[in-house]
Amino acid sequence: MKYASTRDPSLSASLSRALADGLAPDGGLYLPQSMPSLAGATLDGRPPLHELAPRLLAPFFAGDALARALPAICVEAFDFPAPIAAAQGSPERLSVLELFHGPTAAFKDFGARFLAACLARLHAADARTRTVLVATSGDTGGAVAAAFHGRPGFRVVLLYPEGRVSPVQEQQLTCWGGNVTSLAVRGSFDDCQRLVKQAFGLARLREEFALTSANSINIGRLLPQLVLFAAAGLRLRDAEGAAPGFVIPSGNLGLATACAWAREMGLPIGGIVLAHNANRTVPDYLADGQWRPRESVATLASAMDVGDPSNMERLMALWPGHGAMTGRLQAVSIDDGAIRASIGAEFARAGLMLCPHTAAGFAAYRSLPGAERRAAHWVVVATAHAAKFPETVEPLLGRRIEPPPALASLLGRPSFKTRIDAGIDALEAGIREGACTP
Ligand SMILES: *Cc1c(COP(=O)(O)O)cnc(C)c1O
Repeated sequence: MKYASTRDPSLSASLSRALADGLAPDGGLYLPQSMPSLAGATLDGRPPLHELAPRLLAPFFAGDALARALPAICVEAFDFPAPIAAAQGSPERLSVLELFHGPTAAFKDFGARFLAACLARLHAADARTRTVLVATSGDTGGAVAAAFHGRPGFRVVLLYPEGRVSPVQEQQLTCWGGNVTSLAVRGSFDDCQRLVKQAFGLARLREEFALTSANSINIGRLLPQLVLFAAAGLRLRDAEGAAPGFVIPSGNLGLATACAWAREMGLPIGGIVLAHNANRTVPDYLADGQWRPRESVATLASAMDVGDPSNMERLMALWPGHGAMTGRLQAVSIDDGAIRASIGAEFARAGLMLCPHTAAGFAAYRSLPGAERRAAHWVVVATAHAAKFPETVEPLLGRRIEPPPALASLLGRPSFKTRIDAGIDALEAGIREGACTP
C-alpha cells in the first residue's frame, strides 16, 4: 500500500515515510492510495483489540518495512480495552463506547501509543535521539508524553498555552520529567501551533534536534482509531444482526475520518453523526456547502475547539462534493448550555458521568428525530473520562468523580514545567534545556 497526498495524488510515499514525515511534502495529508475492502472477510468482534487490529490493519501495512512488526505494534498500542456499555434507562438501544481506559484517560492514548510503537521500530538503534515536538490544547500532549516517556532514542517537547488548560490536563502535561520537557507558553494554543510550525520551518533546528511531529494528522494516529469502530461494529452486528450507528464528539475530525474509513472498508457501521461544540464550521458546511474555516471559540469541550479541522481534507478526498458528504454524514452543533444540560440530564436518567465532549455526543443523539433514533442501535463515543474535567462536571452532578487508577497515579506525581514567551528564541532555549537533562 502506498500513501498519496490529498493535494497532489502523484506525490506518494511508503507507510514508513508517511509515519516519519506526518505531512506530505506539499502540505497535504496522506491518504491510502486505495481503500482496502474487508467486506468479504470473515471477521467477528470477539477477539481482543490487539488480535483483531492486525487483521484489520494488515492491508495498510502491506509491502512496508513495518509489516512484520504489525502484530507486536498492536500488542503495545492496544493494551487496554474499549468496552461498550449499555446506557441504562433508555427505551431505545443506546450504548457508550468507552475510549478512556488508557493512561491519560482519553481516546488520544490509542493513536499516540500506536504511533510511538511504529516510530520506535523505524528508529535505528544507533541513530541520533529524535525530538518529538508537539503543541497541545489539552489531551494530545499528555497522551504523546505518556506514549514516549522512557523510550530510548526519543525526547518529547510539548508546548501548551499557560492558564488555558484544565488543572488535571496541566498535571498530565507536566508530570513526566525524564525525556519529556513541558513548556508553558505565555500565549494561546494558536501561538503554540505557530511556534511548532516555525521550528519545523527552520532547517537548522529541524536537523540539530531531528524534529519529529506527532500531531493528529499523522496517519499513524488515524489507523488505530479505525480498529475501535470496527471492533464495536462487529461486536454489535454479531449480537444483533445489524450495524450500529455512531455519534462522535468531533473537533479536528480524526475519529470521524477513522470511522468513515472503517465503513468504506465494508465494516458494519451504519449512520455517522458528528457532535461539534459551538465551533460550527462542519455543521455549517453540511448545511450550505460553503467551507468557511474560522478562528476557534473557547468552549467547555475544549479538545473540540477547532475552527479549521485539518482532517476535512481527508473527508473531502474520500467523498468529493457537498452532496456526497451530506448523504453519508450528519453534523450537529451543541453549545455550552446544551453541554451542561446534557451532563445533568444523562446523570439523572442513567447515572452516567460524562465529560463535556461525550455530553455533546449525547445531546447530538437526543437531537435526532425519534424515528431515526429507534431505527438502529446507536453508540455514543465517550472520548474522555469525566474526571479529567472535574471543575465543569462535579458542580453539575453535585458530587465528586473518582479518577480511574491510571489517572489517579499521574495526579499524585510531582510536576515540572518551564515557562516561556511565545517566541522562537524562547522555544529554541526550551528545546535546548530539555536536551541537557538525561
Ligand atoms: C481530541 C478530542 C476530541 C476530538 O477528536 P478529533 O479526532 O480531533 O475530532 C473529542 N474529545 C476529546 C476528549 C478529545 O481529546
